[in-house]
Amino acid sequence: MVRHWHVVACPATLTCVDEIRPLAIVDIDGVVADVRHRLHFLERGRKDWPAFFAAAVDDPAHPEGLAVVETLRAGHEIVFLTGRPEHLRAATVGWLEAHGLDGPRLVMRHAGDRRPAAQIKLEEIDSLARGGSIGIVVDDDDRVLAAVRAAGYPVFAAEWERRSSEEDAVLSTAQERDGVT
Ligand SMILES: [Mg+2]
Repeated sequence: MVRHWHVVACPATLTCVDEIRPLAIVDIDGVVADVRHRLHFLERGRKDWPAFFAAAVDDPAHPEGLAVVETLRAGHEIVFLTGRPEHLRAATVGWLEAHGLDGPRLVMRHAGDRRPAAQIKLEEIDSLARGGSIGIVVDDDDRVLAAVRAAGYPVFAAEWERRSSEEDAVLSTAQERDGVT
């Protein structure tokens, strides 16, 4: 096993090292946040993106997702990686804080980047992998999981957000075709 070390803050007279923990990369929507209550804003040709995003502050938390993060925290550095656009950063940080998930890095979809979520996330994970080892990638999107797994990273499939086929189609279109979340 390759062990990575780095110097941490310590008295100048001492040589202090601390083991760098592997990264646990965790999705937000469908993993720790329950988006189902706002999918109706995108249904049947009605795409009210402002309303869809504004309602994100009211997402209930998924207890399963919170438990997974809590478990991973013990041995990993958590990084949240979401297809949510950058303009939702303040709202997302506020939501994470309100649910005891504050502290980790938050990587979001860059403004104007409309590529499919799977493509963006794999690119970000490759970038994160250059700065540390990837312990696990947690996501609920089959396409993201397939792309990440194919690239050789370990994955954990979050399967607790049960969506109807219509809800699933709405979210998939938003993530993959519209490239908006
Ligand atoms: Mg998701």
